[in-house]
Amino acid sequence: MTSILIDGKTVSEKIKSKIRNSISILEKEKKQIPSLATILVGEDSSSVTYVNMKIKACEYVGMKSKLIKLPQSTSTEQLIAEIEKLNQDENIDGILLQHPCPKHIDERLAFDSISVDKDVDGVTTHSFGKLSMGEKSFLPCTPYGILLLLKEYKIPISGKNTVIVGRSPILGKPMAMLLLNEDATVTICHSKTKNLPEIVKNSDIVVGALGKPEFIQKDWIKRGAVLLDAGYNPGNVGDIDIKNGSAFSSYHTPVPGGVGPMTIAVLLWQTLLSRKKTLQEHPF
Ligand code: NAP
Repeated sequence: MTSILIDGKTVSEKIKSKIRNSISILEKEKKQIPSLATILVGEDSSSVTYVNMKIKACEYVGMKSKLIKLPQSTSTEQLIAEIEKLNQDENIDGILLQHPCPKHIDERLAFDSISVDKDVDGVTTHSFGKLSMGEKSFLPCTPYGILLLLKEYKIPISGKNTVIVGRSPILGKPMAMLLLNEDATVTICHSKTKNLPEIVKNSDIVVGALGKPEFIQKDWIKRGAVLLDAGYNPGNVGDIDIKNGSAFSSYHTPVPGGVGPMTIAVLLWQTLLSRKKTLQEHPF
């Protein structure tokens, strides 16, 4: 079976070019340009890399960005005070708190202090509640990026057996809600799940979201399944054995160049929507 490659890089470029066009119109009309504030606590090297990528992406589409670097020793209260300042700042449309924060910080409390109107990374309990209720909200960027890939490739979701391997608040759980809202039959798996291979074998759509290199094996894949790999492990390896598993799939995302590029594009898209004060638009 020939598996179609889902080209997240190209799809993300399409979204970024749409953002760039919208921003140039705002500029011509002498309107306020969208602005994203990113908070980085400490100096975790992967986080520094991700933050730099986000700042570069803002520049690329003509969006403003502001980086707030806080020392490793920052307390939860100090972090929340910084977030509050950004909540009040009319020049800021979106707030991104880079995850993970140092261990001593109450990350949930910090996320939940982000104003829902500026929660362009979709991390607050409020946004998750709205998503779970099927209401409009800003969405967690990686799951929303995965959904957009399915839409762009016109892959049917309604009624499909879907498995998400991983249940983190930023990835697995919201992914499940997004697919449920699209009328999929959703199974969420985690580290205590029994019979994972059989569950995957019964699934038309498989989302790898656990952070374990090539954990989902080729023998588990149902013939014709759609493989979506959110995992990003050292050595550019995903959570699904795509190399061998794609012999059985109908569609698959590569790593890198699949899900990864979508995350930043969606973040910028939602920052643009925040400036435009709408949740009604989709990039395509
Ligand atoms: P996380 O918070 O560590 O969550 C991992 C999840 O996987 C947990 O729910 C855990 O179950 C589950 N899990 C762990 N071992 C398992 C096993 N043996 N069998 C079944 N489930 C297992 O990770 P995350 O932040 O969601 O990230 C997951 C992966 O996605 C990572 O590779 C990360 O780099 C990647 N990611 C990529 C992007 C992107 O932009 N492309 C964005 C976010 C994350 P328990 O709940 O039972 O512990």
